[in-house]
Amino acid sequence: MFLIQILWVHFKVEQKGLAPALFLDRDGVINIDNGYISEIKDFIFVDGIFEMCRYFKGLNYKIIVVTNQSGIGRGYFSQNKFNVLNKWMSERFIQEGCGLDLILAATADPNDPNVPEAEFFRRKPNPGMIFEAAALLKLDLAKSMLIGDSLRDIEAGNAAGIPNLYLIGGQFGSSLIAESFTDLNQCLLELRRKLNEIP
Ligand SMILES: [Mg+2]
Repeated sequence: MFLIQILWVHFKVEQKGLAPALFLDRDGVINIDNGYISEIKDFIFVDGIFEMCRYFKGLNYKIIVVTNQSGIGRGYFSQNKFNVLNKWMSERFIQEGCGLDLILAATADPNDPNVPEAEFFRRKPNPGMIFEAAALLKLDLAKSMLIGDSLRDIEAGNAAGIPNLYLIGGQFGSSLIAESFTDLNQCLLELRRKLNEIP
């Protein structure tokens, strides 16, 4: 009985230690999606992204980018080019007072039959990258949120058990599993309203 109590207390402490996260898609959420962006000069931040991240940092959320970057696997641009862009992007977030906690990318070409299953599982709409982030940063996915601009993002979040899924861009109606917003500013307004309701 005593042992069970110890285990239970340990479990509670473990649970308490898990952080919530805001998961972001990159293209179409962080930057305007003009297709296979690999150059700093083509990287235009979406209006409202820094306000969104500052708000969630203030609530002690981890900010995590999960992005499909098959342009690397397809040979359109190199991993090194992607790393250079990431470094620059990360610095911009730090300057704006909302440093990113993790960036994960699925770089395989989905049409390549030699891609290992595990790598394919990382590519959205599969949830692999989200699980990877949860294990690395000890996240509470049940208290986390995800913002995407495509149904692939939403499906990945749903498959990972993230209950709060938001679509921006307005090209889809609200689905059963995601709320839809025209843009990040509208999304943030609604999230602020919602979170303030929580006592
Ligand atoms: Mg996108």
